[in-house]
Amino acid sequence: MPFSDVVGHDGPLGLLSRSIARGSLPPSLLFTGPEGVGKRLAAQAVAEALNCLSPVRGGVRPATGPEATAAGRPARRRVPARPVPAEHATLVLPLDACGECAACRRIAKGTHPDVLAIEPPDVGALKIEVVRPAIAATAYRPFEGRCRVVIVNEADRLTEDAQHALLKSLEEPAGGSVFVLVTSRSGVLLPTIRSRCSQVRFAPLRAGDVARLLTERHGFSVDDAFAAAAAADGSPGRAVASAARGFRQSRDSALATIQAVARGTSPRARVQAAMGLLAGKSSAAGERDELMTRIALMASLLRDLALVASGGRVEDLANGDLAAPLAELGGAFGRDRALRAYDAADQAIVALRRNASPKIVADWLAVHM
Ligand SMILES: [Zn+2]
Repeated sequence: MPFSDVVGHDGPLGLLSRSIARGSLPPSLLFTGPEGVGKRLAAQAVAEALNCLSPVRGGVRPATGPEATAAGRPARRRVPARPVPAEHATLVLPLDACGECAACRRIAKGTHPDVLAIEPPDVGALKIEVVRPAIAATAYRPFEGRCRVVIVNEADRLTEDAQHALLKSLEEPAGGSVFVLVTSRSGVLLPTIRSRCSQVRFAPLRAGDVARLLTERHGFSVDDAFAAAAAADGSPGRAVASAARGFRQSRDSALATIQAVARGTSPRARVQAAMGLLAGKSSAAGERDELMTRIALMASLLRDLALVASGGRVEDLANGDLAAPLAELGGAFGRDRALRAYDAADQAIVALRRNASPKIVADWLAVHM
């Protein structure tokens, strides 16, 4: 997959493409950022750009998301004071893979002899035996490509032995070799590993970009895509993984609860509204999980409500498909109330993580919205 096909991450992708074009790509890279946002795909794009037989120079693609300008900084958790202006800039890629030549196709299929991808097992650690052959291979010139690339996915699962074995290669990689370590938990890696690598940070994607990706590449309907994206916290991977859990229904319940709270002024009516949040699952753990999901979705809706109340644009809403009911709720939920309710939802999730009773948390939240 060329850089131009990776959604979002304009900052990191532009940086990588520029470095490759100039021949100044650091040989040891650490891709960090939340799970499922496209780090592994970006690593593959690096391997393709380095080995493509007919690379594309000076390509462009539309810029996506605020991370275009805020590369590496954590995603904005709060509703901005003013709506973020639309960025219709383009991402310039000085060098990119074609995605179609024999080298690109083999890298995509995982059969290129010079691109070694180390994937973790389903369960357990990445052991030294798995890493050694890749390290040994980097002692030789690439077989047919220009550059040997070793991608270690979920590098945080490397055993300490395996990390020690990698250290020397990361410090002085053999000529023509590039190591890309990919992780969503870089803190777990040995400090010596982290310090030898150049870190490239990937931020969560905008909900709108996640929804677009889900409809275009994963066959989601528009409604399902928006519902899944709202709950996925900027991670398409997480959205796809959890789609089976029926987010749309959960989001409908979250919206219905906000609407009931907006109508009900007495504490009694509020507690009645809270009933809508509880799914009535048979197991306590199931009930807690579903309530967390519903409250996370509620938080996403409340953030949108604050944005609507601040005069934000529909394109910036995480739940853009619900613009009409959100606008209707604007009468009951102004910006300040929506933000207070958002804070309460945040606190409710923390309480649930600490094992508070789902019923008590739901009641408390409905009264504090
Ligand atoms: Zn190519």
